Amino acid sequence: MSHYDYLVVGSGLYGATFAHLAKQAGKSVLVIDKRPHWGGNIYCENIEGINVHKYGAHIFHTNNKEVWDFVNSFVEFNRYTNSPVANYKGKLFNLPFNMNTFYQMWHITTPEEAQHKIEEQREEIRRKLLQNGIAEPRNLEEQALMLVGTDIYEALIKGYTEKQWGRKCTELPAFIIKRLPVRFVFDNNYFNDRYQGIPIGGYNKLIEGLLYGIETITGADFFGDRNHWESIADNIVFTGKIDEFFNYQLGHLEYRSVRFEQEVHEIPNYQGNAVVNYTDAEIAYTRIIEHKHFEMFGEDIAKCPHTVISKEYSTEWHNGIEPYYPINDERNNQLLEEYKTIAKQRPNVIFGGRLAEYRYYDMAPTIEQAISTYRKYQK
Ligand SMILES: Cc1cc2nc3c(=O)[nH]c(=O)nc-3n(C[C@H](O)[C@H](O)[C@H](O)COP(=O)(O)OP(=O)(O)OC[C@H]3O[C@@H](n4cnc5c(N)ncnc54)[C@H](O)[C@@H]3O)c2cc1C
Repeated sequence: MSHYDYLVVGSGLYGATFAHLAKQAGKSVLVIDKRPHWGGNIYCENIEGINVHKYGAHIFHTNNKEVWDFVNSFVEFNRYTNSPVANYKGKLFNLPFNMNTFYQMWHITTPEEAQHKIEEQREEIRRKLLQNGIAEPRNLEEQALMLVGTDIYEALIKGYTEKQWGRKCTELPAFIIKRLPVRFVFDNNYFNDRYQGIPIGGYNKLIEGLLYGIETITGADFFGDRNHWESIADNIVFTGKIDEFFNYQLGHLEYRSVRFEQEVHEIPNYQGNAVVNYTDAEIAYTRIIEHKHFEMFGEDIAKCPHTVISKEYSTEWHNGIEPYYPINDERNNQLLEEYKTIAKQRPNVIFGGRLAEYRYYDMAPTIEQAISTYRKYQK
């Protein structure tokens, strides 16, 4: 087998971006992935003409023009704008919290009325907590109540957050919610970023563009034949789990996971929106994603007679299931620092991406990070 400048472990956005840049610079690169496909978590499966986001809904958004131009050089993006809807006990509310939400909740129509209503509720909470000698929020519930008041917390935050974390809001630390943005304009666009959209034809097109002309092997686990993989390249870009790389010698990092239940319905339009959050505690899933709305608009929705939905259930993580969200609490962050210290003894291994850095990264920051690490490494 050949010898490579770089072995890239993982064909997700981080690995594919790094591999692309290295290949452009004339380096020899091999990308391996343990899954049977490229793309990591942005992989889409085409089901009856609909691109299904197999590992959770992905909406690309960024303020970084360099990153936006970079991704658009591989595939054109559509005009999809994320405007999720919340279903609380059958009543619908727009998200993020904005004048539409406040109208739906209180039938008020002006920003002044909305500000007054929220301030009144926050004041009431502060007063009650102070009466009990509490000046600083002790948990997520108190933090959220102090930020947005009772009505929004009870209907749109409490149940959803408890399902997400599998714990009561009173048992969750306050730092999880630092800010809860409220907008006093009628604007349901979830993101504030300048650029937003979905690749036309799906995310696989983006990955195919990044990996074009690069040697790849899927279904190949680095740990299946570690000695072999380590021997065939001068440098390794590792985008798997950092604790696994070191054989869990210091302990396991913890995650939250998500289970997806997929259904095909023989109707053209199931819920009229890509994302509907279920915010009450009684419904076990957190969201329903209807995938066609990411890429079909207007008359095209009815032209496609079926639809695919995914119900998302937030779950505890254990070895053997997908690690989705790092739990960056004190214990895990401390453990991460210890792994980072021993990682320094492996200067020819770059630990990058969400699993190797044990950090939640959106897609655009993942690309930014891969580009900047690549540039640093070339110096
Ligand atoms: C549910 C969910 C929803 C999200 N929604 C959004 C969104 O709307 N917008 C947004 O910007 N971002 C979103 N993200 C974040 C986005 O998924 C990440 O930014 C992106 O996937 C990070 O890419 P990565 O290459 O670091 O990791 P990954 O995509 O996870 O790729 C890592 C790859 O490494 C492979 N691998 C791991 N270990 C090994 C091994 N031992 N041997 C071989 N291969 C291995 C894996 O199979 C995988 O293919 C979401 C994330 C989740 C979990």
